[in-house]
Amino acid sequence: MFSAPEKVHQATFNSGSELVDTTFAERYPLDILIAEDNFVNQKLIERILIRLGYRTETVSDGAQAVNSIGKSNYNVILMDVRMPEMDGLEATRMIRKMAIKQPYIIAMTANVMTSDREECVQYGMNNYIPKPICMDEVISKLKIAAEYCSKE
Ligand SMILES: [Mg+2]
Repeated sequence: MFSAPEKVHQATFNSGSELVDTTFAERYPLDILIAEDNFVNQKLIERILIRLGYRTETVSDGAQAVNSIGKSNYNVILMDVRMPEMDGLEATRMIRKMAIKQPYIIAMTANVMTSDREECVQYGMNNYIPKPICMDEVISKLKIAAEYCSKE
């Protein structure tokens, strides 16, 4: 009797075409701010961005996001909609009033009903990623963001 050779498991994110690709950030250079209050989600998003070759900066509420945006040159914000103190919608509304080069704002939300997406747009968000966050969604939305930013 013989046993089959042990299957070699690929990296966790090995489910799409551009996985674990640290050249992604070179091809789509962006300065990205993460605004997310949940620690587990923070780590998940940071891990995805690092795998794509980005440096990560994370804040945990909308007020901190507004504050960071005023001080730095982020061109993309991954913005959780539900956060304490100031939520992602209100933070976006404030950022849109600021006299700065406006960032591309991507909502991260578990609410994927059309009305929720429309609310994000009304507050000035550009796009959204449904929760739970997956790598393929981040890749596709960052490509759109990079294209948008290159035309600005
Ligand atoms: Mg939240």
